[in-house]
Amino acid sequence: MEFIDLKEQYRALQPSIDARMKKVLDHGQYIMGPEVAELELKLAAYTGSKHCITCSSGTEALLMSMMALGIGPGDEVITTPFTFAATAEMIVLLGAKPVFVDIELDTCNIDVSLIEAKITPRTRAIMPVSLYGQVADMDEINAIAARHGNIPVIEDAAQSFGADYKGRKSCNLSTFGCTSFFPSKPLGCYGDGGAIFTNDDVLAKACREIRVHGQSARYVHTRVGLGGRMDTLQCAIVLAKLEQFEWEVGKRVEIGGLYNATLKKLGISAVSQKADRNSVFAQYTVLVDDRDMVQGRLKEAGIPTAVHYPIPLNLQPAYAQLCCADCTPKASQAARKVMSLPMHPYLDESTLARITSALASAVA
Ligand SMILES: *Cc1c(COP(=O)(O)O)cnc(C)c1O
Repeated sequence: MEFIDLKEQYRALQPSIDARMKKVLDHGQYIMGPEVAELELKLAAYTGSKHCITCSSGTEALLMSMMALGIGPGDEVITTPFTFAATAEMIVLLGAKPVFVDIELDTCNIDVSLIEAKITPRTRAIMPVSLYGQVADMDEINAIAARHGNIPVIEDAAQSFGADYKGRKSCNLSTFGCTSFFPSKPLGCYGDGGAIFTNDDVLAKACREIRVHGQSARYVHTRVGLGGRMDTLQCAIVLAKLEQFEWEVGKRVEIGGLYNATLKKLGISAVSQKADRNSVFAQYTVLVDDRDMVQGRLKEAGIPTAVHYPIPLNLQPAYAQLCCADCTPKASQAARKVMSLPMHPYLDESTLARITSALASAVA
């Protein structure tokens, strides 16, 4: 059993992926070829965003969007400690300080009621993460940002491309939405890739320049940038996968719903889903006591699991000096309890039944 079955997905989409790749190999425009602009137009249309700027990874998307905002030394960015390292890492890389706000234990997303108290004159952005594929409380976050002089809001949507929020799409809910096409994300390529979404013309232009070493025209370096392009082949692969993506999102929602219903009957608690939004279930995550034991028993039963994430960022050696150890107790609690189960659109019902019954006996 695979935790995420990318080979099965390739089997299902092979003719279209192969044809798309062949086309790129034939035209030979490996950097900034026509598939890059084609993908950007399609992704912008999908999310409803005015601009999409593809880039080399989700990490780079976060970095470039903060560079476009001019974030640097002395600035603070409010974020969550219960996320993949890239979120806080890019803030620190720019010389700014991540200000960690605790999470809600039921969704594992940032607790919006705690944000306002952390705003200072140095706050230059708020960066919620739409964890496990479920969008954070973006309207409330945007309202707080607006009340404090329109602080830019960057959604780390690396796990939530395709998710709905009150009838709108993740990535198009704030100043910036940043996603990742890492192979295991809901919309993945076959290497590294990512995208930035914004409705702001000035910020979009800045991101496009930053992506190519700050060039506003060939060999005219208007600003300091980096080499942050997504390559043409990866864009071609995402274009092929996009054709099947709505079906895959539907399957993820369906499988997530089946997991929810079955685990509820078994009395096993899972990350809860809010009624006004649809998760894309980048992960299906349960909360268990004695996780090591449960994981060990599932492993014996041939069921792969993963932990996202075992250590909150404020307790990681690289970031520990930035935050007191006990100021985000719910993140610490979640880190001890979370365990993700196999989740991908090609998971069939009998496999799902095997997983849930093995889990039931593992926790018994
Ligand atoms: C995957 C991920 C990233 C980084 O994306 P890459 O494409 O791997 O660089 C950033 N934030 C979160 C929450 C992620 O899950």
